[in-house]
Amino acid sequence: MGIIVQKFGGTSVASPKVRDLVVEKVRKAREQGASPVVVVSAMGRRGECYATDTLIDLARSANPSIASREMDHIMYCGEMISAVIMAGTLQAHGMDAVMLTGGQAGVITDDNFNNARILRVEPARLLSLLKAGKVPVVCGFQGISEDHELTTLGRGGSDTSAAALGAALDADMVEIYTDVDGIMTADPRIVCNAKILDQISYGEVCQLAHQGAKVIHPRAVEIVMTKNIPLVVKSTFSDAPGTLITNVAQPDSGGRPVTDRIATGVASIGKIAQIKVSLPENAPGNASFSIFKAMADNQISVDLINVHPGQVMFTVAEEVVGKAACKIGELGYEASSTLDCAKVSVVGGGINGVPGVMANFIQALAKYEIAILQTVDSHTSISVLVKNEDVQKAVTSLHETFNLAE
Ligand code: ADP
Ligand code: ASP
Ligand code: MG
Repeated sequence: MGIIVQKFGGTSVASPKVRDLVVEKVRKAREQGASPVVVVSAMGRRGECYATDTLIDLARSANPSIASREMDHIMYCGEMISAVIMAGTLQAHGMDAVMLTGGQAGVITDDNFNNARILRVEPARLLSLLKAGKVPVVCGFQGISEDHELTTLGRGGSDTSAAALGAALDADMVEIYTDVDGIMTADPRIVCNAKILDQISYGEVCQLAHQGAKVIHPRAVEIVMTKNIPLVVKSTFSDAPGTLITNVAQPDSGGRPVTDRIATGVASIGKIAQIKVSLPENAPGNASFSIFKAMADNQISVDLINVHPGQVMFTVAEEVVGKAACKIGELGYEASSTLDCAKVSVVGGGINGVPGVMANFIQALAKYEIAILQTVDSHTSISVLVKNEDVQKAVTSLHETFNLAE
């Protein structure tokens, strides 16, 4: 057996007791003849002293609009502390562990602070450590730019680190250890009878992740997919086999190939705002283009786009809605916005063109009198915009309507 990348999320490294579980996962991989590379996230969640959100809150208490470069330096600390503690714990259990920052592990990024892209991974140092029988413990979420600036990869980016290291090292497998038993048909915090998916294709999980299933970062899936490296999402806290993610269309328990399932899961993204721009009759033909160009020029990502004669509608993250409205105003158009919205999506490789799917979708929401503010569909998903307060009901009803608990 060759190299395995084992990534442990925040809750998996949060206390001495759970770090001992991590030690067992690493030890087991070694006993099976693998060479593990451990990747860690910052310890715990918001409120715990070294969690990323706690560090962000600390920086913002000094300056609510602190520069993104400085923010990257404080966020860097979370994974540094975690990797030191995890390497120390492995050493205490007799393993020759070596802690490395993202940069020391060869993760080279662009200099887009807070959301840097990995340009390449230089694996020489990791390979020589592995050859010497050591266990590298790498800080997830981090990289270094060509100008030696410290960068972070966007929230949830430790998954991306693990995937990129796996790809650069030609790993046999990338294992993502977290606090649930695998990828589920919905967030178990929203739907109590959500079911673990034994297998899922790269494409489906990528869609689920893009639509808000934060159990895995979509970029991580895209990276392993290019090299066809199997990805497993499993729990640190159990021995359950987890979810295997590959490109192979294996039959699921109902005998259907996994890529053909009409619905694989339901996901949601909150904290978004809807923007409506009414275009006057005498608006120039390129009016909608100028609006989207203004958004792009100001690094504002748009989603759920509907363009009609006389009206342009789209969504943005709630935190940038003021800036978006202002830029539209500068073009001479008036934007109205609806805050507290969420996007709810049903994802499935076989959803496209199946008669009745949309009717079932709408009926699931009508059952609870949920107002639909907008809809959009792609070949693998159907999404609606609803008010935040309706998310729980919408996700649960769609989960039930599409028989995902069965
Ligand atoms: P980690 O710190 O281990 O990376 P995250 O909090 O990023 O953990 O991701 C795990 C969480 O993702 C779970 O606790 C669960 O609430 C949430 N989640 C959202 N959607 C799903 C889904 N479809 N399947 C499983 N978990 C999901
Ligand atoms: N600690 C980082 C975050 O909270 C990265 C990660 O957990 O993947 O976003
Ligand atoms: Mg995560």
